[in-house]
Amino acid sequence: MIERFARHLVTALAISVTAVGCGGEPSVEAPTELVDDEESSSAALSGQCPSNPTTGVNSVLVLRVTNAGVGAPTCSAATISAALQSAAAFYSETSFGRHTLSAAAPVDVSINYGTFGCTDPSALNTIAARADSAATARGFNPANYSRVVYVLKKPSGCTVKGGSASARIFIMGDSTDVSGCHTGRLYAHEYGHTLGLNHASTYAQDYGDASDVMGNIAKYARLNGPHQAALGWSPQSVLPSGTYITTYTLTPLESGGRVLKLGALNYYASFRMATGASAALDAAFTGGVSLHFAEPCSSRPSPTYLETTLWDGADWQAGQVRIRQQRHSATSASITVTSVVPPAQCGIMPANQGLIAGNVLRSCDGRFNLQVQWDGNVVLYRGSTALWAANTNKTTSAIMQADGNFVGYDSGGSPTMATNTASHPGAHLVVQNDGNLVIYGAGGRVLWASGTAGR
Ligand SMILES: [Zn+2]
Repeated sequence: MIERFARHLVTALAISVTAVGCGGEPSVEAPTELVDDEESSSAALSGQCPSNPTTGVNSVLVLRVTNAGVGAPTCSAATISAALQSAAAFYSETSFGRHTLSAAAPVDVSINYGTFGCTDPSALNTIAARADSAATARGFNPANYSRVVYVLKKPSGCTVKGGSASARIFIMGDSTDVSGCHTGRLYAHEYGHTLGLNHASTYAQDYGDASDVMGNIAKYARLNGPHQAALGWSPQSVLPSGTYITTYTLTPLESGGRVLKLGALNYYASFRMATGASAALDAAFTGGVSLHFAEPCSSRPSPTYLETTLWDGADWQAGQVRIRQQRHSATSASITVTSVVPPAQCGIMPANQGLIAGNVLRSCDGRFNLQVQWDGNVVLYRGSTALWAANTNKTTSAIMQADGNFVGYDSGGSPTMATNTASHPGAHLVVQNDGNLVIYGAGGRVLWASGTAGR
């Protein structure tokens, strides 16, 4: 459909097109400040559902469980202790000291339980209950801890490396696995579930997001934007609604940077730095802003989804918001955000409303429509016949400004076309039933017209 419009446009331009000036003064009101989400730890405002305390000192009891039916874990107590300390350091770092783990040396316990289905919750709960009893008998009461980690030897044939339920964490990966009882990443991942986090996914893969330990755990990486915001460990700002074009600079989450929630959309922008626990981050995450999608909190937290990573010059759009990454360095990334409130009624575009790429404003009889096309042109159609075009190829938004000027902008915020009707506050644009595109001043005087009435 878009291609068809584009070809029609070429024809239209060859016939005659009303000239539209370029270089209109951009005067779109930009918000002076982001709306700080002071309650970023509030589940209602964040994508995930934090559970268990997200701050404070969290005591962890680690039980190295020898199961007579299967055998002893393949990791020694010292190896387990080192891996858990690695996970503890990870949480201390990614929470900026807000959430710490306090774990004593692993306690060896023995139980008598046969082989088991390693994804069978009832079997795991029975094993946990027996291990708890054995630990209590040794003077370690699990009820006195915020989490209990059970390191088990997995039965043969089991491919699951870990699991968690509420405050219980099961570690079953062998010391020979890429991620097993010897790797802090596995403990950190399962611990993340006890904080209420689901997986860091891509649309194609459950564990596909390599920028978060809740995703690909073959490499360590701190938590992603929506996870950090949900836990209250990174500040979150929410894009204000309205019509504006403005530039924001994001600093890396790793250095305390904020997460930008894209208004009512469930998308989150963040920037990353390959340092500390994120030292192994893929280059895509440090070359541009990461965009994630995360459902609002519900009774069962959903995964986060890595939407894309931007690069300098890249555009992304969802709903009435468009983002262009302007530039980045190791320590910051600048994005220009276009936010447009579309006209609510047929035929008329009042001040401070506009069209973003893909939007259409129809005349009230439905015969004519004004479009900001995906190819960057602004075109007025009768049906599929182009009547007028702005003759641009970079326009991604067209805004009826408060000053009376109707201005097209590219995604970097530079004007691409204008009707040069500024200094008429209160003016509005109309797609008329006679096929004319007209800008009327507040008093009803015609300030500009496409001259396409009756065409
Ligand atoms: Zn998991």
